[in-house]
Amino acid sequence: MSSSSATRTPEVAVVGGGPAGLVSAIALTAAGVETLLIAPSAADDHRTTALLAGSVTALATLGVWDACVPHAAPLASIRIIDNTRRLLRAPEVMFAAAEIGLDAFGHNIENRHLIAALRDRAAQLRIPMIGVPALAVAVDQVGATVSLADGDVRAKLIVGADGYHSLCRAAAGIKTTRHAYPQTALTLNLAHARAHGNAATEFHTESGPFTLVPLPGNRSSLVCVLEPPRADALFAMTDEQLSLEIEQRAHALFGAMHAEPGRGLFPLAVVSARTIARDRIALVGEAAHVVPPIGAQGLNLGLRDAATLAEIVADARRHGADVGSAAVLRRYEMQRRTDVTSRTIAIDLLNRSLLTGFFPMHGVRGLSLFVVDRIGPLRRALMREGVNPAASQPRLMRGEMV
Ligand SMILES: Cc1cc2nc3c(=O)[nH]c(=O)nc-3n(C[C@H](O)[C@H](O)[C@H](O)COP(=O)(O)OP(=O)(O)OC[C@H]3O[C@@H](n4cnc5c(N)ncnc54)[C@H](O)[C@@H]3O)c2cc1C
Repeated sequence: MSSSSATRTPEVAVVGGGPAGLVSAIALTAAGVETLLIAPSAADDHRTTALLAGSVTALATLGVWDACVPHAAPLASIRIIDNTRRLLRAPEVMFAAAEIGLDAFGHNIENRHLIAALRDRAAQLRIPMIGVPALAVAVDQVGATVSLADGDVRAKLIVGADGYHSLCRAAAGIKTTRHAYPQTALTLNLAHARAHGNAATEFHTESGPFTLVPLPGNRSSLVCVLEPPRADALFAMTDEQLSLEIEQRAHALFGAMHAEPGRGLFPLAVVSARTIARDRIALVGEAAHVVPPIGAQGLNLGLRDAATLAEIVADARRHGADVGSAAVLRRYEMQRRTDVTSRTIAIDLLNRSLLTGFFPMHGVRGLSLFVVDRIGPLRRALMREGVNPAASQPRLMRGEMV
């Protein structure tokens, strides 16, 4: 669906048609907020996303999940294996969803299927969509203007869902803190001889995690974190060479492997916006925070941003308030801060504990996993927190409409 932007004046304009932007637009529209989506078509994405149970509930509540089901594999268990050659190594730890009364911690789905399902739902809801990029965003006392090649969009609130290099973030004058790691993630999908049993397997290595996550059938997605030159070398291999390399790194866990077309390289960094909302601009997803792909947190955080923002905007609207007011933005910032900060710190620490050559740190990591393995109530509390964070329970994640 495409329309001229020349005279558009929605209440809210969402900039960016990645998963965080699409979910924002769908949730706002479902809540009765007049929303327009600025979503140029994006490059092919062969990655997958492990959506935790709260995210799946939110997508089901928004009428998106049914279209995802044929493409999604449940994550019934997660196995962590210390594959370092260090003196102090952690024990193998298995987390089973059944231990906390769930069939699955969540589901893994290829991003292209998730995006297609979200775009279909946006079309069903007749969300006006403009397929060209935002060129500039300017804010004044009563609204914000997004400039496009063919005209302007004027709205009370701009949702900046425009990813890592966010134009909206820059327009709001929001600074970031950034730390680049000496690591690159190589991503690809694989077919394999043996069944994965709906178990995700994470090998911890000195260069970072090597994680196989189930896809439907005898297929898995791989995120292999390596030193950048090594990642480049694997990326350049033929399909046959790469399949064998991955099979060996996976200790032939699922038998012979066959690399599917489509590989990605992602330099790892942690990026945090100093504030996630200011001057009629609210950031969601990677515009607000980028974390390394460890423990499947990135988009799950982004979807909680989208769900929380939609809830706050819908509440403001019900009370006849300005949906882009400073009070609305302050409430959003406050409700997201703890969840985003605590996850970012936890992922950063875990990643650094793998990379460090500092001997006592290996002991701390090993001991932590040993304790988690041995103490059932602690393990179950961790699993519950992973699936449903206490710091953030927006209505959509509880199965209630915004
Ligand atoms: C290797 C890897 C594995 C991952 N695995 C997981 C996982 O298992 N689980 C998980 O939860 N997370 C995972 N993540 C994180 C997840 O991929 C990201 O959090 C997610 O893709 C971010 O979505 P987004 O919508 O915020 O941004 P993006 O997907 O980057 O979308 C931003 C959109 O904005 C558009 N845009 C940019 N500029 C403009 C403009 N000026 N005007 C209009 N549009 C614009 C772009 O075209 C793009 O479509 C992983 C990340 C990596 C790198």
